[in-house]
Amino acid sequence: MAAKIIDGKQIAKEVREQIKKEVAELGFKPGLAVILVGDDPASQVYVRNKHKSCGEVGMYSEVHRLPAETSQEELLQLIDKLNNDDKIHGILVQLPLPDHIDEKMVIDAIALEKDVDGFHPANVGNLVIGDDCYYPCTPHGCMVMLEKCGIDPKGKKAVVVGRSNIVGKPVAMMLLAKHATVTICHSRTQNLAEECRQADILVAAVGRPEMITGDMIKEGAVVIDVGINRTEDGKLVGDVHFESAKEKASWITPVPGGVGPMTITMLLQNTLEAAKRSAKK
Ligand code: NDP
Repeated sequence: MAAKIIDGKQIAKEVREQIKKEVAELGFKPGLAVILVGDDPASQVYVRNKHKSCGEVGMYSEVHRLPAETSQEELLQLIDKLNNDDKIHGILVQLPLPDHIDEKMVIDAIALEKDVDGFHPANVGNLVIGDDCYYPCTPHGCMVMLEKCGIDPKGKKAVVVGRSNIVGKPVAMMLLAKHATVTICHSRTQNLAEECRQADILVAAVGRPEMITGDMIKEGAVVIDVGINRTEDGKLVGDVHFESAKEKASWITPVPGGVGPMTITMLLQNTLEAAKRSAKK
């Protein structure tokens, strides 16, 4: 069976159209501040895309580009200023930060109601408890894709490969909240292939090019590939070996064009949500 493709680009487009409509109805512009410290080339591209995407849906955004030598104190002062800036509803600090800056301290400093990346410990706690929170963008994107394809995790066996705070753990919690039975695998998991073969929904967030192959996938499984890896010849591939996996899966996300386009879209969604919440205060 050849899998149906979960078209992240198309889903992202539809969600962004809805966001644009809601922004226009809001009566004021939701505002996002993005902070970039240093000149990591990949981070620069991400930040540029976030800024551009905000403009496309009618949001206000400002980018704070700080030199790599910026002190932690200076960064914390900027966050404090943005926490108190009424035109800013969401604050995102592009990670990774230079080594001399304590990432945890910086994330903790972002006002909870402006934490549109969903990385603040209180947000993470609320996600685990099942309370109101901002969902981290990439896992949220995975869940929206499932929903848009009419895939209900309820009662299904979900296997998440990867346990990072950014993807693996939160997506596992979100699947659990949707009543899936969830297994989280990682680098010390014994017999990964066997674990993966149990999955009705398989989420790969490992960072290893094409390591999940078709023989590790149950017939008819839904496969969400979060991985973004560049091969030696410059090709972009996921953590899943697409060609063999698509012969087994019922639905599969491609790379590129799967989870990738959803991440910024969910950032826009969270910023809109933050703006709406601020208006209710
Ligand atoms: P991390 O490196 O933080 O985490 C990788 C996880 O994979 C770890 O939990 C690690 O286990 C596990 N792992 C590593 N090797 C193996 C192995 N051989 N078998 C089983 N598990 C293993 O990565 P991220 O979660 O940040 O990112 C994962 C991938 O997703 C990357 O390719 C990244 O580029 C991509 N990504 C894509 C995004 C998007 O917008 N589409 C956004 C964020 C990430 P352990 O904990 O034991 O070390």
